[in-house]
Amino acid sequence: MSDLATIVNPATESIIAEVPLAGVAETDSAVARSLEAAGAWAAVAPADRARLMRRFATQVEEHGEELAQLETSNVGKPISESRDEVGMVAEVLHFYAGAVDKHRGATVPVNGGVDMTFHEPLGVVAAIIPWNFPIAIASWKIGPALATGNTVVVKPSEITPLTALRLAELALAAGIPEGVLQVVVGTGPVVGARLVDHPDVAKVAFTGSTDVGRQVMARAARTLKRVTLELGGKSASVIFADADLEQAAAASPGGVFANAGQDCCARSRVLVQRPVFDRYLSLLVDAVASWNVGDPTDPATDMGPLVTEAHRARVRSFLEEGMGEPGGGAVKPFAEGSVPGGPGFWFPPTVVAPADPGWRMAREEIFGPVVAVIPFDDEDEAVRLANDSPYGLSGSIWTGNGARALRMARAVRSGNLSVNSHSSVRVQTSFGGMKQSGFGRELGLEALDTYTEVKNVFVSTDR
Ligand code: NDP
Repeated sequence: MSDLATIVNPATESIIAEVPLAGVAETDSAVARSLEAAGAWAAVAPADRARLMRRFATQVEEHGEELAQLETSNVGKPISESRDEVGMVAEVLHFYAGAVDKHRGATVPVNGGVDMTFHEPLGVVAAIIPWNFPIAIASWKIGPALATGNTVVVKPSEITPLTALRLAELALAAGIPEGVLQVVVGTGPVVGARLVDHPDVAKVAFTGSTDVGRQVMARAARTLKRVTLELGGKSASVIFADADLEQAAAASPGGVFANAGQDCCARSRVLVQRPVFDRYLSLLVDAVASWNVGDPTDPATDMGPLVTEAHRARVRSFLEEGMGEPGGGAVKPFAEGSVPGGPGFWFPPTVVAPADPGWRMAREEIFGPVVAVIPFDDEDEAVRLANDSPYGLSGSIWTGNGARALRMARAVRSGNLSVNSHSSVRVQTSFGGMKQSGFGRELGLEALDTYTEVKNVFVSTDR
């Protein structure tokens, strides 16, 4: 008998499902099925593969509300966010369906013949997915992997597997052949590690913590697997005195508290130029007070609970003794929002200001609704503070000065930046980190390259 994962609704603490946990043997069987399906899937004519992926996207659209409700009940995120994310899944599948026959090779001018390149599928791809955006992040890997002719084994987080399981059923219903997309639910150390070790897995596409990303990379080195890593972040939102302060402050809660801060792109450091620091803070506190924390199934809710009790304890620890340095005292919030009573892993939106950039809560990824607001004097200091992090995933620049916006955008070491916006992710544009936020790019046309090998063929034209 296999063990069962008990799936809990984080807003009610009630059990919503029990899912069998796979072990090494089930993982190996899934990889074997995936390998068996790989040749035939790679050989499907491009227009037919595109058609199947479009049907898959249509299935997601037709079951959109069901998927959104499932995601909300499993992750606790507001239904408005789940609906957007499921909409994005369909958009991702449509985008990569359209890309199937547009990922072209090249002909290269050479002496003595014709030289050409082919983008060839890797084979079996393992997609290891975290709990914060289960269905969306799964689609970011499934879309480009299937479009380029790979088969995929998805390992969702064992605490949030429900939408990935449903997605695999919808792929079958769309006519995507058995074995092309499978989901194996199990723990990271068992199923995740086996996928990373397995000699028949050609690539691991991983999203999760920097610590586990490091382990995945080291382990994958044994079989020289292709690896892409989308890891943690401690992104900065930099607000200059010449910015539209009302606009920046109104957007700030969404930039850091969306998905209860459980977002690798959360702007958990807000750097504010000193002349407008106090004014910004008072606007932010007003915005936090009107941020609606509660029942995630209510369309008016802005923020739900954290994902588990254990994660809530971890988030709380960042405000406790030892997390403020020097001195090592507890961090006292400047302002906190309110949360519902009763069951649920609630945590209030929390503003720490003025925060010291050296504090652990201002340096480490908290992955909860806690923002450190830090003053700065000039542009050079803003760049120094923004870059003073081992991470480089996302960030924002708020200014009314176009030249400054471009100077900052070039100077900040981060894979994704937005000006006068908190947007990080769009289907059509690449997404990924610099420094210890990982490497490789997801989404956009760039992702297609990370699921293919370039083969070069030279044909002699000598007589
Ligand atoms: P993890 O990095 O532990 O988990 C991410 C995925 O990796 C999960 O599917 C997990 O499985 C799997 N995994 C765990 N260990 C291994 C392993 N040895 N080999 C292969 N796969 C493995 O993140 P957590 O969920 O524990 O979150 C911890 C912290 O990581 C967060 O608080 C946050 O700071 C950060 N994080 C960042 C994310 C991002 O989007 N960049 C996403 C999630 C977390 P399972 O969970 O089932 O054991």
